[in-house]
Amino acid sequence: MDFVRATDVAEAVAAKADDPNAEFVAGGTDLMVEVNLADHRPSRVIGLRHVAEIQVMDHDRIGAGVTWDRLEHGEHLALAQAARTVGSPQIRAAGTIGGNIGTASPAGDALPWIAALDAGIEVASRDRGRRIVPWDQFFTGVKQTSMASDEMVTAVVLSGAGAEAQEFAKIGMRNAMVISTVSCVVARTADGFQVALGAVAPTPIRARQAEEMINAETSVSEAAIVEFGRIVASEVRPITDHRSTETYRRHASGVLASRLLERCLSS
Ligand SMILES: Cc1cc2nc3c(=O)[nH]c(=O)nc-3n(C[C@H](O)[C@H](O)[C@H](O)COP(=O)(O)OP(=O)(O)OC[C@H]3O[C@@H](n4cnc5c(N)ncnc54)[C@H](O)[C@@H]3O)c2cc1C
Repeated sequence: MDFVRATDVAEAVAAKADDPNAEFVAGGTDLMVEVNLADHRPSRVIGLRHVAEIQVMDHDRIGAGVTWDRLEHGEHLALAQAARTVGSPQIRAAGTIGGNIGTASPAGDALPWIAALDAGIEVASRDRGRRIVPWDQFFTGVKQTSMASDEMVTAVVLSGAGAEAQEFAKIGMRNAMVISTVSCVVARTADGFQVALGAVAPTPIRARQAEEMINAETSVSEAAIVEFGRIVASEVRPITDHRSTETYRRHASGVLASRLLERCLSS
């Protein structure tokens, strides 16, 4: 494999434009599994670890190269909570939010946060410059995105005031080093409550009917919290696979969403 060590975004996207079959590598925690265990052999690998611009994180912009261990200590509570559940310390030191987005697994733990906060994904290419893609136009299927073959992710971009309260939780087959069976983020923003779920559809999804119901309440009662969970469970589109069943995922989605709503209400 040909290896290009990019030192800035221009160099990275130029290397990709020259060889659209090339693949980026950030932490390598997803890509190297494919190389080592699935005999995946990209013609060219473009290393992003030395691209300074994508390592920068501030309130409304998280560079694609920011690692999970930095997100653990970031200002976005639900993203920090998600980061703390990812893999092991070694995985969190190497793995990045850009790699999580690039893999676009339905179980990627950054994805419900991106959806709940209505974030955009900034992408760059040599020939067309930069554009921000709304998250629901970016993730198109299981491990599928709308990114063109000559583009890279440069940042996650937030618009608006962000969330006044936000909570993440996931369920897996054990307590640590576990891929999500269901993940959920509830955020309270200026527009009301927003709820997103992962691993229960081909892409991260919002439970819009549940949002509408809870945002119509003037004062949220216990019964409304239960009803919110019930509607979330009816809106998800899970499958049965080696990690869980459709029935369990549906049930767990409602339970997680209700609990996170309660936490947002009391924070
Ligand atoms: C033991 C183990 C445990 C794990 N646990 C979890 C977990 O709990 N939760 C979870 O969500 N994930 C988990 N993962 C998966 C992985 O660690 C994450 O998805 C991580 O965020 C990937 O980031 P990376 O920088 O290592 O990506 P890489 O492996 O470098 O890249 C992944 C993919 O994204 C592409 N890519 C990378 N950067 C960019 C970019 N800037 N623009 C466009 N494409 C890009 C690459 O070409 C590749 O296709 C685990 C993995 C392992 C091996």
